[in-house]
Amino acid sequence: MMRIRRQRRAPSAPATVPRIDPRRHEADQEAEAVEKFGASGLPRRDPHKSNGHRLRGELRTARSTTRIEPIEPLPAAPQWIALADDVSWIVVVSLSEEPWPDAERELLGAARKVADEIGGGVVMVRVGVQDPAADFGQIGADRAILLPLTTDPDVLARHVVAVMERFKGRHVFFGEGGADADVARRTAILLGERPATSLHLLSAERATLQEAGGRTEVSRPLPRVATLAQGRFEAHEGSIAREGRRIDLKFDETTPGVRDLGIVTSSQFDAPLGEARFIVSAGDGVTNWDAFRGVTEALGGTIAGSRQVVDAGHLPRHRQVGASGTLVEARCYLAFGISGAPQHLQGVQRCRYVIAINTDLHAAMVKRADLAIIADAQQVMPALARLAGGPANV
Ligand SMILES: Cc1cc2nc3c(=O)[nH]c(=O)nc-3n(C[C@H](O)[C@H](O)[C@H](O)COP(=O)(O)OP(=O)(O)OC[C@H]3O[C@@H](n4cnc5c(N)ncnc54)[C@H](O)[C@@H]3O)c2cc1C
Repeated sequence: MMRIRRQRRAPSAPATVPRIDPRRHEADQEAEAVEKFGASGLPRRDPHKSNGHRLRGELRTARSTTRIEPIEPLPAAPQWIALADDVSWIVVVSLSEEPWPDAERELLGAARKVADEIGGGVVMVRVGVQDPAADFGQIGADRAILLPLTTDPDVLARHVVAVMERFKGRHVFFGEGGADADVARRTAILLGERPATSLHLLSAERATLQEAGGRTEVSRPLPRVATLAQGRFEAHEGSIAREGRRIDLKFDETTPGVRDLGIVTSSQFDAPLGEARFIVSAGDGVTNWDAFRGVTEALGGTIAGSRQVVDAGHLPRHRQVGASGTLVEARCYLAFGISGAPQHLQGVQRCRYVIAINTDLHAAMVKRADLAIIADAQQVMPALARLAGGPANV
């Protein structure tokens, strides 16, 4: 749905210059010149020719050779890309009061990269009064929206949600500044999404972010709501500007925003498996379930299991790992008594380290593992719990 508009160039002037042939007789030339220009020596006007046929230069007499200055090329016609409304949209939010700070240009550059990969567009959302002549297209935005002037993060988050709904926004990116990140989190809550922070590498499919104060890097599918690390992305430098069309949205400023419900505690069973960093998982080789819970708690892991144990009712369905369960991306996956059927292995292929505890040396899970303990899970679980200093539940 992309089309490029070009401004029409003015027709270039043809170089119709009277020329004198030095090889011809002077009298003939003079007669021809008088015929062409009249006795006054000024060029005759041809009423049938349009004004567009202008002659640049200086014409002194009919006899003298005319000095023609080169015709200056017309400036290149400006171009911009205009998108239809039904493409995928990446929304960029900036709470900055000054126009186009570096951080904002970087946000736009990152959004532009993702949008270009999917053939989509970028919506720039800014707060407050803006210079009416500001050119959003030049910095890479296809649409621009000005939010009503406010510093209330709840209200701002609701406005951003309204923009996301209007454009069916695929992703929304914020800066890392305190106020920006605050609105990002509130927006994520309203959208029912888990925000990702400190993204410093991204494509339309995946993003790399930093965790634990920048000590570890995690790669995950590009989240819907994210804050972007400053200084990691290039500003948009495209030679062809975008449309930068202003959109007026009516914002509802009366609806109540986010309500503080206090701190919610989560257990080993609540933590979403897809985001768990350390998973302790049980298969059919586990028979002592108290020992399994004990070792998971002692190690501070998140509980999971194979389909076999879920089908048997030992764990709830949302704890199942595998092709028909959750695809996990843990840094460490500790598997007690799991054979490693293809459907299960599919679920752990993005895990960094796999540790298998199994009585069968030839189990597929043992082959997949970075470290294996060939032993009875019922003995290993309490031993590990003791080593970790937690309740052994033997
Ligand atoms: C369409 C389809 C989708 C599926 N999706 C999934 C899915 O998403 N996730 C999933 O997990 N499965 C899935 N399955 C099922 C899968 O094929 C296997 O049946 C299942 O993963 C086996 O679970 P398990 O390893 O716990 O049990 P088993 O295959 O019975 O393996 C038990 C393992 O425990 C070991 N063991 C036995 N005793 C001990 C002991 N005392 N100590 C240590 N080890 C011991 C054994 O050596 C064995 O390796 C799917 C199947 C189908 C057909």
